Amino acid sequence: MKHAVVIGGGVVGLTTAWALVESGVAVTLVERETQLGQGASFANGGQLSYRFVSPLADSGVPFKGLRWMFEADAPLRFKPDGSLQQWTWLASFLGHCRASVNQATTQRLLTLGVLSQSEFAHTCTSAALHDVDLRTPGKLVIYRSATEFNKVARRLRANLHAVERVLSYQECLALEPALAHSPLQFAGGVFTAGEAVADCFSVCVQLGERLRAHALFRGVVHAQAHGFRVLAGRACALQTSAGDVAGDDFVIAAGLQSRSLARSAGIHLPIYPLKGYSLTAPVVADNVAPVVSVTDIEKKVLYAHIGNQLRVAAMADMVGEDTRIDPRRIASLYRLVHATFPKAAQYSQATEWAGLRPATPSGAPILGSSPVPGLWLNTGHGALGFTLSFGSARMVADLMVGKPSPIPLAGLCLP
Ligand SMILES: Cc1cc2nc3c(=O)[nH]c(=O)nc-3n(C[C@H](O)[C@H](O)[C@H](O)COP(=O)(O)OP(=O)(O)OC[C@H]3O[C@@H](n4cnc5c(N)ncnc54)[C@H](O)[C@@H]3O)c2cc1C
Repeated sequence: MKHAVVIGGGVVGLTTAWALVESGVAVTLVERETQLGQGASFANGGQLSYRFVSPLADSGVPFKGLRWMFEADAPLRFKPDGSLQQWTWLASFLGHCRASVNQATTQRLLTLGVLSQSEFAHTCTSAALHDVDLRTPGKLVIYRSATEFNKVARRLRANLHAVERVLSYQECLALEPALAHSPLQFAGGVFTAGEAVADCFSVCVQLGERLRAHALFRGVVHAQAHGFRVLAGRACALQTSAGDVAGDDFVIAAGLQSRSLARSAGIHLPIYPLKGYSLTAPVVADNVAPVVSVTDIEKKVLYAHIGNQLRVAAMADMVGEDTRIDPRRIASLYRLVHATFPKAAQYSQATEWAGLRPATPSGAPILGSSPVPGLWLNTGHGALGFTLSFGSARMVADLMVGKPSPIPLAGLCLP
């Protein structure tokens, strides 16, 4: 029987480990923290956004980026971190900011999103994922600017296959009564039924528990992975702070740290941290929190009602590998939520969090085999790691056991 070593106990590593044991592969998980799900998967937005994938790299973004540099509450921020990596990534990102590239990436992510949706449903059953605060209220993307809204509305109305519904502001109010408690009047919105929300951290914890009970799971090694031993061109062991962990195959699913692990085997991964913030605030009887999952698209803020809490997630800061909470950025987020949904939650009791999205310049993850036999990749999911993890895990597991990928790999793997 094959034995795979999966590096990373975030949502991507855990879904991979589960897909592998379910495919008949014995698995050891390596995680440096004493608990699972402590990285980017901890307090992310919780949106399972299968059909609204919207990669950041788009034609209007460089121009908007310049404008945002002078705005205090801008959704994006750039601060030189002194590394060549940052400039290389930025140059590549700007190269991807073209409508044609955006459309191609969107199409790939949509296909992966649809696969992920069905794999999530399958995993909910196979791993008995209960208590993860899963709801399927649909997703409403709201537009502040009439120009932006009309542009999107025209495009969607012209697309006979579009699953999204274009809604006037009045229709948005009817769908999501919490909008009536906002001092803002929006231009309109786009609603996608079937989009879900859940608590990503709870998914991680439960997958960890189900793995521990699975006959093919060999356990978690809580150790720092340093690199790979390569013998005759093939990866044969993972070097860790607890000694070598041998295996037939290795999956790099270590989020942002995937790039240094891959580098140890001579593989360059174009991944850079896009830092984001979240607030998790209790919702009590006096509050009017949105029921559907709402994205305030121009401000790039999302609101997800998860259990009895409101999760607000926002911002994409290019500031290096730094998870500290910047007081100016978090104050900016509070200003935004108070100005948008002042009555939605008890913001004074919010828990603040910052995490690093492991982002590629295109916005597409890097999946499948690597140039080093025995070394597999499942990383670089950026802003959509929770959403895409289940489909990505299925693809990597199928490929490892010699099956064809369930969807085309082009654009979702190393060139
Ligand atoms: C503010 C914010 C909001 C977001 N909102 C959403 C959302 O609404 N929907 C969505 O789909 N996605 C969202 N995301 C993106 C999503 O959270 C990430 O894409 C996803 O969590 C990445 O998962 P991962 O398992 O690759 O990485 P991580 O969760 O970071 O896991 C990597 C794991 O590897 C471990 N590790 C790293 N290096 C080593 C090493 N050398 N040795 C051993 N272990 C190691 C880490 O400790 C960690 O546990 C959001 C992200 C942020 C920051």
